[in-house]
This record gives sequence, C-alpha cells and structure tokens, in this order.
Amino acid sequence: MARTTFYDKDNRFTVLDRVHKYRAIKYGVDWEAKAVQTVMATANKRCGVCKVLIDMEARQPDPFSLNIDHIVPLSQGGTHTAENIQITHRICNSKKWNTERKDKTNE
Ligand SMILES: [Zn+2]
Repeated sequence: MARTTFYDKDNRFTVLDRVHKYRAIKYGVDWEAKAVQTVMATANKRCGVCKVLIDMEARQPDPFSLNIDHIVPLSQGGTHTAENIQITHRICNSKKWNTERKDKTNE
C-alpha cells in the first residue's frame, strides 16, 4: 500500500516538501529543493512559536504534532525556502492564526 510510505520517517519530510512545493508553484512564488529537510536539519526539532521540542512521533490530529509554517504565507507572496519556513506544533500555528483573526476559538 503506497500510503504507508507517508509514515516512513525520512520520506515524511520529502512528502511534506513536495506538497508545499506544488502550492508554491500554484501561487507562482519561488521555492527551493528540500526546503523542509533543510529546516528540519537546522531547527533542532524545536517549535518556532513556543520553542518547545516537537514530538516527531505525534500524528495529526494531535495538537502537538509537527506543522510546517511559512512565515510569510505562500498566498501572500512568501517563498517555499528554508528562510521562510519554521516548524511549529499544530496548536501553536493555529493559535497564531487565531490571534491574528481574533478568532473566538479558545485553546
Ligand atoms: Zn509550539
């Protein structure tokens, strides 16, 4: 079954990278190869928002699972490059959005 490869540790980042690369192409913004892998190698598994270690074994919809965040969103001209990417917990990334939107959602 092809889907099981998604859960392979190393391949997981390749898949994440590819998904975001396609979005970058769709938005017509720059991208670089292996941007996610580069960030994973330099971020020490720490969340860019709360700086706490991210559990790489956690899976969606776990709020503390790994999330790839474009600091400037691709939809707003941000690039899919290592310097515009941070890794966060799912929950930290959604908090960021909720704060910006003054969402009624309460963690
Ligand atoms: Zn976090």
